[in-house]
Amino acid sequence: MMSFSREQDAEFRCLSTIQGVSEQRRGRVLAEGHAQTEALRLILVGLFVFTCVACSGGERRFSGRRALAHVKALCEIGPRPVGSKANARAVEYISRTLERHGWQVEVQSFAYSGVPVRNVVGTKGQGPVIIIGAHFDTRPVADKDPADRSLPVVGANDGGSGTAVLLELARVLDKRATDQAQIKLAFFDAEDRGELGGWPWCVGSEHMAKTLANRPAYVIVVDMVGDDDQRIYYEWSSTLWLSEKLWQIADRLGYRQHFIPEHRYSILDDHSSFLQWGMNAALIIDFDYPYWHTRYDTLDKISADSLQRVGDVLETLLEGEPFSSSGVEPGSN
Ligand SMILES: [Zn+2]
Repeated sequence: MMSFSREQDAEFRCLSTIQGVSEQRRGRVLAEGHAQTEALRLILVGLFVFTCVACSGGERRFSGRRALAHVKALCEIGPRPVGSKANARAVEYISRTLERHGWQVEVQSFAYSGVPVRNVVGTKGQGPVIIIGAHFDTRPVADKDPADRSLPVVGANDGGSGTAVLLELARVLDKRATDQAQIKLAFFDAEDRGELGGWPWCVGSEHMAKTLANRPAYVIVVDMVGDDDQRIYYEWSSTLWLSEKLWQIADRLGYRQHFIPEHRYSILDDHSSFLQWGMNAALIIDFDYPYWHTRYDTLDKISADSLQRVGDVLETLLEGEPFSSSGVEPGSN
């Protein structure tokens, strides 16, 4: 994968530096006295340490493998429906991860029908607001299961994959992203209790959309992107220029087979909460997933390569060309 080859490249540069250093060192030892050699040795050791720090710190790229580890951790917590203990543990896991990577964390708590709902929002950077969102709650019952519709959904893909992509982005997004925008990584609760016990969909994201202090330049929602057989189409209700921008990046990265620039489904998801207020919003979803809302939406269905592709597209977008100061693209809807 892209990130691994870059990391290997950085390690290779470090090794080349070590070899170069020892060769220079051998030449000088013959020509100069002991004291001078010692001074030189200290300089070269310093140079080597500096070079290796530069190698390891400069190229932190999205890792699908690390994202997959987040999916695993979330699945180990168990099904995470709104209001459950496991849901509260997921809130802690997300908050701790964001804090570890230097994000300012806010938990938006409120009650819906007497049930506690918690969005977690990590903020970093300055400039126009960009929201990257995913829901972390899971469906309370597997109501699409072919046999048993009483059990809850583990949600490796539906609830896990989008959350994992955002958590890995929290680790890798650097100043190229946060110097040109204020980025909010929004983890929505209560997306997936829709049509159960009178609940609507997207309760958490609706709360965030209507209480936003600043209108975002755009919102991108990531949901169900971890399927091994990954095919992501334009979603009908999404802001077209934003989808086009994302799919063009995917094309440049060589992911055209997986990001197919054709419309397929119209889906109500967390991006809808922002669209209804006239904000620019796009959904990245692979809705061709046979295990959707069944007992079988489990870790074994999730591919690190699929998470990698979505992470690469988002990282490239956010760390890419400076964002227009108006925050609105020509022809936006
Ligand atoms: Zn769902």
